[in-house]
Amino acid sequence: MSVGSFQARQTNSRHDGTCACPTAEQQLEFLQRIQSLFEDGNFSATYKYALLMALAELAVELGEDNGNELPLEMAKIGEKFAELYWPQTVQYVSGVAGTLCDVLKQNHGAQAGAINELLNLREAGANTLSKAKNLPNWPSAVQRITETVRTMPIKHLQVLGGRQVPFLYDYPLPHGKLVLKAGVMFNLRTFHSLIQQLARNGWISHIRQIHFNREIVGPTDDLERFMFGTSRNSLQAVLPILAKLQSGRCFYCDGDIRTGGHVDHFIPWSRFSRDLAHNFVLAHTGCNSFKSDMLAARIHLDNWVRRNEKYGAEIAGNFGEAGFVGDEAGILSVASWAYGQAVTSGGIAWVESKVTEPVSPAYLAVFG
Ligand SMILES: [Zn+2]
Repeated sequence: MSVGSFQARQTNSRHDGTCACPTAEQQLEFLQRIQSLFEDGNFSATYKYALLMALAELAVELGEDNGNELPLEMAKIGEKFAELYWPQTVQYVSGVAGTLCDVLKQNHGAQAGAINELLNLREAGANTLSKAKNLPNWPSAVQRITETVRTMPIKHLQVLGGRQVPFLYDYPLPHGKLVLKAGVMFNLRTFHSLIQQLARNGWISHIRQIHFNREIVGPTDDLERFMFGTSRNSLQAVLPILAKLQSGRCFYCDGDIRTGGHVDHFIPWSRFSRDLAHNFVLAHTGCNSFKSDMLAARIHLDNWVRRNEKYGAEIAGNFGEAGFVGDEAGILSVASWAYGQAVTSGGIAWVESKVTEPVSPAYLAVFG
């Protein structure tokens, strides 16, 4: 099937003004094109992986489950880049004897420009992302990163076999924005986890191939945790804040947490890997372990939404000091997406212990 027919069928509008969701066949074709990006695309730096992850995350945070186009401001994409690269701008410490400690290179030649911009922010005194965002030179750094994204990965991401295959967005871009084509937002939302994992794996293996990094990274190191995980130290920092907010009780079973407790991502990290302040809850280690990578059941969802409504500002303030970004509206959109996907795919949610229940459409009432 040609690219042309793919575009033509997706631009069919429905009576309500929205575009029809992509058919199963169109979804499959989209996945094949994503696959060919990884197989045939030329990735000289890690920017293209970051761009794909940025587009997928923005489709979840700002989009809806329909087949429409999604216009994205370039500045939003630049900011997302800064967030994705931020954890990777500290020195990597392997622990394997004989390796050097240094910031990993993201490019075969000189260090990637986006990294240098973020390193400058760290030198200006920001040791966390939320502090970096409060620096007076944050906007200008993001502006320069945005310009790099516009002139490099956006131009090159869809080049396959030496020619532009614009299946994600039209290129050249309209001024100041990138428009995800009809059907793309829907597909990025539907296949977010898959695309995220493909991009991560590609990014990690690219990092390993860069000659400079071979002196730094041990052959068996868990780079994924370093590049995309949450640092355990920073989670420890929010534990007392949550303990106070929840009066020392488990978010899920309401039992007393006598010692320790575990900081849980309410929307599981495996589904959406962004450390937003309002997504954290404190739970018994046992409850956390039973919940694992599942969504939480409706009773917990209602409690979580209510908690954020009531304490949203307080959470943003306290967690900001601990280094986490607050985006109450953003995490609510992510939750609405995650539960919406679960309804569509017949997913289950965790109630307590080993008890689960199907995620029914009634769950979605909480999102209005
Ligand atoms: Zn519990």
